[in-house]
Amino acid sequence: MPMLTDQFGRKITYLRVSVTDRCNLRCRYCMPAAGVPPKRHEDLLTFEEIAAVVAAGASFGITKVRLTGGEPLLRRGAVDLVRLLAAVPGVADLALTTNGLLLARHAAELKAAGLMRVNVSLDTLRADRFAAMTGSDDWRGVMAGIDAALAAGFAPVKLNVVAIRGYNDDEVADFVRFARDKGLHLRFIEFMPVGNSFWEPGKVIPTKEVRALAERAAALVPAQNGNAGDVAELCQMPGSAATVGFISPLSAKFCRRCNRLRLTADGFLKPCLACKNEIDIKVPVRRGLRGDELKRVFFEAMRLKPRAHSMEEGAAESPRCMAEVGG
Ligand code: SAM
Ligand code: SF4
Repeated sequence: MPMLTDQFGRKITYLRVSVTDRCNLRCRYCMPAAGVPPKRHEDLLTFEEIAAVVAAGASFGITKVRLTGGEPLLRRGAVDLVRLLAAVPGVADLALTTNGLLLARHAAELKAAGLMRVNVSLDTLRADRFAAMTGSDDWRGVMAGIDAALAAGFAPVKLNVVAIRGYNDDEVADFVRFARDKGLHLRFIEFMPVGNSFWEPGKVIPTKEVRALAERAAALVPAQNGNAGDVAELCQMPGSAATVGFISPLSAKFCRRCNRLRLTADGFLKPCLACKNEIDIKVPVRRGLRGDELKRVFFEAMRLKPRAHSMEEGAAESPRCMAEVGG
C-alpha cells in the first residue's frame, strides 16, 4: 500500500473533513461577523463524494477521520454520512468536533451510526459571555449536548477550550473543576490567527500561563501515555480519570509531528491549516476517479505540505477562516 509521506518524512494518517462551512454560531475568534459567504449546494461535496475521498485516503494509510466544519451537525443527514464513513475499510477512528448545540438531538443516533468519539467546543461556563462571543443565548443547549454525549456512551468526550486573554482567562480553573466533575477530557488550545480580525497577539495566552492557571484547581501530573498520537501535552489529575491537555500551535508548535491533511466542504485538499496551498479533488472525483486513480491528487498535496506554519509571527497565509478550514 502506498503511504502518504511528505517531503519531510512525516506520515499522514489523519484526515479532517469539513462537512459544511455554515454555522449556527458566530464565534468572534473563528468567523467574520457577517459569517462566511454561503456556498451553493452543488459546490459542496456530496456524501458519496466525501466517502470516495475518505476511501481513497484510507487506501493510502489514513486511519483516523474527524468530521468538523462550520458546524457539522447542521448539514442535513450528517448521521447518514457518519454511517457511510464508519463502513469505509481502514477507518479505525471516526470522530466529530461540534459546538454541541444540536448534539442533544443527535448523540444517540450518531453513536448507533458508528461515531466513536466526540469533541465539544465551549469556551466559557457563563451564559452571558457565551452570548457575547457566539451571538447565541443557547449556552444551556451546549450543556445539554455534553450531557447527551456522555449519556450516549461516548468515551472519551473531549471539551475544547480556546484560551483568550480578557475573555476566559479567569475561567481556566473553573473548567478544570467542571471537567473533573463531569469526567470530560479537557483540551486548552492557544488562540490562532486564522482568517479573522478578532485575533491580536495580546489575546493569546501561552500554554505555560494556561497551565499555571489550571493548576490552581488541581495538581496536574504528566499522563502515563505522554502525548502519544496526540498533539496535546497531556496531564492527569490524581484520583480522576479526566485528563487535561494543552495544545500549543504557537508557543510549542508541533509541525514536526503533524500527521494531518484536511478536506474542505467544497472539495479541496489542504495540506496545512495555515497555508494557502489547496488542491482541487472535487473535479477529479466528479470525473469519476476513485481509489488509486486519486493517488496523484493526494501525492500532490503531500508535495505542497509546508515544513511548518509561521502563525507565531502573525496572520496565517490561508485566506479561509477557521470555519472554512475545519479548525
Ligand atoms: N463548529 C464546530 C466547533 O466549534 O467545534 C467545529 C468547527 S470549529 C472551526 C473547530 C475547532 O476550532 C473548535 O474547537 C474551535 O474552538 C476551534 N477554533 C476556531 N477558531 C479558532 C482559533 N482562531 N484558534 C484556535 N482554535 C479555534
Ligand atoms: Fe461555528 Fe465552531 Fe467557528 Fe464557533 S468555532 S463559529 S461554532 S465553526
